[in-house]
Amino acid sequence: MNRVGIGYDVHPLVEGRKLFLGGIELAHNKGLEGHSDADVLIHAIADAILGALGAGDIGHHFPNTDERWRGVSSLVFLREIRLLLEKRRAVIENVDASVIAEAPKIAPHLEKMKAALGEALGIPTARVNLKATTNEKLGFAGRGEGIAAMAVACVTLPD
Ligand code: MG
Repeated sequence: MNRVGIGYDVHPLVEGRKLFLGGIELAHNKGLEGHSDADVLIHAIADAILGALGAGDIGHHFPNTDERWRGVSSLVFLREIRLLLEKRRAVIENVDASVIAEAPKIAPHLEKMKAALGEALGIPTARVNLKATTNEKLGFAGRGEGIAAMAVACVTLPD
């Protein structure tokens, strides 16, 4: 049985934080604000996979009121979700995601992000597709006030 899920997330860009995106650190004068490392791309992907599993959302599994998740790498969430997939004997067919950011330039880093995400999820890099776009200077993303990400995932569950 194939199931699909969708994920969407936004985090504000602020001074004094490191920028983590897709499981890697990027050089930038601002970073994403949040309880964890605020990796908006991973959060969107996590929500897409949890959605495909019919397992709620990232806030349910990793609440921002839980001190365990304060400052952690969001790759930890993907490793936890991998365990959930194994428990349900579910297999990720593919993940596709888009990052919406005016700066920094994301495209040169997509291959490294794919490798980090594939490793955390225990799937071949070929099953992860990443895209980056600007918001044509429109809205919060266009003004560089935050970064958004959206993702879909397809999962096969045993019948
Ligand atoms: Mg988030």
